[in-house]
Amino acid sequence: MEITKLTALELGKKIKAGEITVKEAVQAQLDRIKEADGAYNCYVTIMEQEALQRAEEVQKKIDAGEFADSPLAGVPAAIKDNICTKGVLTTCSSKMLGNFKPPYSAEAVEKLEAAGVVIIGKLNMDEFAMGGSTETSFYGPTRNPWNVNTVPGGSSGGSAAAVAAEEAFFALGSDTGGSIRQPASFCGITGIKPTYGMVSRYGLIAFASSLDQIGPMGRDVSDCAAVLEVIAGHDAKDSTSMDAGDYKFTEALVDDVKGMKIGIPDSYLGEGIDEEVKQSILAAAEVLREKGALVEEFHMDMTKYAIPAYYIIASAEASSNLSRYDGIKYGYRTPDFEGLQDVYKKTRSEGFGAEVKRRMMIGAFVLSSGYYDAYYKKALQVKALIKESFDRAFEKYDVILGPTAPTTALEIGANADDPLKRYLGDIYTVSANLAGLPAVSLPCGFDSRKLPIGLQLTGKLFGEKDIIRAAYSFEQTRKYESPIKEKEGK
Ligand code: GLN
Repeated sequence: MEITKLTALELGKKIKAGEITVKEAVQAQLDRIKEADGAYNCYVTIMEQEALQRAEEVQKKIDAGEFADSPLAGVPAAIKDNICTKGVLTTCSSKMLGNFKPPYSAEAVEKLEAAGVVIIGKLNMDEFAMGGSTETSFYGPTRNPWNVNTVPGGSSGGSAAAVAAEEAFFALGSDTGGSIRQPASFCGITGIKPTYGMVSRYGLIAFASSLDQIGPMGRDVSDCAAVLEVIAGHDAKDSTSMDAGDYKFTEALVDDVKGMKIGIPDSYLGEGIDEEVKQSILAAAEVLREKGALVEEFHMDMTKYAIPAYYIIASAEASSNLSRYDGIKYGYRTPDFEGLQDVYKKTRSEGFGAEVKRRMMIGAFVLSSGYYDAYYKKALQVKALIKESFDRAFEKYDVILGPTAPTTALEIGANADDPLKRYLGDIYTVSANLAGLPAVSLPCGFDSRKLPIGLQLTGKLFGEKDIIRAAYSFEQTRKYESPIKEKEGK
């Protein structure tokens, strides 16, 4: 068995048992990255020296009996490039932050390190997490390991592709409107977007602060639950962080959905969904029903307003958040300018890509006097109604089931000149962010081109354990499939 094919928890066990050293694990991962990343472009920064040095430190601690309760100790992992890592480039895949080395690490990163995880590099993404294909990266697109002519999804496309391509045992991503779940779906892996406030956003570079959450991406549900267990928790440094009380997510890794009530919103299987995706989701629902869950369709209001509400709110917050990049404090500054206004204008014109500029313009427009009530305020009202419609659904159901995305991975370049079409691809993911709910995407099948299909399970606020239990139970019925063939003789 090749080391890089193990799941994170399997590797952690072997490290504890002394069958594999931390250094061997890190070296195997670095070798795999060197071998494969030319084809996929998952990494913006590879932390070779840091990781090898850290491997020795962690090994010493393990040998000294530390990390006894840390199943992930010694496991190498990679981080989306909008999550700060002290002293290590954190670019948001933007020219604007192409030289940014944060003076601190994100809380989630610190927690991983405290659990003995070895950070091995930073992963490609859509610029400032705006997009669903990783094509808006300043560093070029990431490619989907299942078919390099297709996108890995986004914005955490580097994270998803790295996990699928065995260039990372697990990764952190961020999800503002689907950016963990949709790439997980396109790359055939698992990703969890936690309840808003479950994981500290301290050190996550803001896109839309009221929607952003950091979450785990891994090859299976168990790995994701174990990672979430490490990174979740109240943090005084993030005023929107919550005390959830119970963080023992791995306790929910139980193969039992008997009596669990699962609802499928009728609108999730209606217009716009690819027929093969629909059939695969219905088959997954049937599996859960056979395992004893009560599964039924129900009518859900408001879903068709989720996209416009999301794009107004997210863009409004982005236009405010990204005003800090002015060429003065840090990040890119235009080399040649005359006076202050000129620095601002040229720095921002040269430093941001087209999609980021589009969002900032939409955001400034919907917040402007005269349009504020018609757009921004209206969108907030719609957000409240969406939340209510989920509240009603959760009076009846424990979990809501549907597709993660209406299609499988699109060709690179598809809909390049039609942003609205691209935005519609987020139809099933944005509601969880608007309502603050936890949701998981996990593989449930393939289309006829052998591209992965993702099943999405959404839970009530702080209902992570419900979706983890349902996802784990479903996962027991199908083995993880890797796009990377086993090499002979290893
Ligand atoms: N695709 C969505 C967007 O472009 C979601 C992005 C995200 O979750 N970061 O805004």
